[in-house]
Amino acid sequence: MQDNVAQTRPPRPARWHGREKGVEWPGERPAGQPGSRISEEVFELVKICPIRTGYTLVSPAVPDRASRRSKLAYTGLFQKRSGRIRVPVKCFLAEANGRRILVDTGWGRESASRPMKSIGFGLWFASEPVLPKEETLDAWFGRLGVTAEELDAVILTHMDVDHVGGLGDVRGARHFYAAREEWEAAQAGGVRYNRKLWKGIPIEPLAMREDAAAPFGRSCDLFGDGSVKVVFAPGHSAGSCAVVVSDGGKFAVLSGDNGYNAKSWDELALPGPMVSRSDMLRSLRWVKSLREDPRCAGVFAAHDPAAGMEPVAF
Ligand SMILES: [Zn+2]
Repeated sequence: MQDNVAQTRPPRPARWHGREKGVEWPGERPAGQPGSRISEEVFELVKICPIRTGYTLVSPAVPDRASRRSKLAYTGLFQKRSGRIRVPVKCFLAEANGRRILVDTGWGRESASRPMKSIGFGLWFASEPVLPKEETLDAWFGRLGVTAEELDAVILTHMDVDHVGGLGDVRGARHFYAAREEWEAAQAGGVRYNRKLWKGIPIEPLAMREDAAAPFGRSCDLFGDGSVKVVFAPGHSAGSCAVVVSDGGKFAVLSGDNGYNAKSWDELALPGPMVSRSDMLRSLRWVKSLREDPRCAGVFAAHDPAAGMEPVAF
């Protein structure tokens, strides 16, 4: 086990546990019923539950920079607001080998109720957050029967406002992680980041190790058992990552903003916001190769409007 991960874990609430492999979700069965025990079998199960924290209204050049002529079109500048597209802002609750993680945090309550104050005018202008009250993290966690305190880790694929916005809503989680490169870039400031959003949150830079299978040769096996791997995949931002959740055979990819929709992987369509074209391409090619792997149970991107909200288990 890596040093940056808590060694002790309190027991899970019974209603989270499934009896056998198959889709079973928290809240579907009351606690204490037969089968709601902790067993070896249960912990082989990987579950992924998409959580949509509202939407963002952006230029069509955000998911596909080639859709507009100007390189800066993704900022929304000099374009009609009526031409914007609405894309979901998702984060993912996952469980693998008995640990529970949240990948990204979406928009937070503040980003919706006082968006300009919360994320600043420039970022509000570029990304117009919309967060219905039934889609806050609190509301989702209430429906799913989980609490922030039960999260072993919150993993940030990167630190853009639509991924760290909800950090304040899950401050009770045990650990918060981001790639060192991302953490440093975000701390240094710059127009895309807003430090207010992680004020008081003890984000730990991840200790990455050499990994020949990773697109940039580095990843972090978060719990030391291969169930949750944070893979360095920059390009969209300086330290973007993707999270691969595995039961040892099958796996799923929580790709953050390494691709917005099928076109990103099928045609390697580059997004508007990126810090390196070549890194972005390498990261997209890597996600594409995982997506084509027969063991892949799915690629879950933060902003794919075509992706469903159904939980996945394997
Ligand atoms: Zn995003």
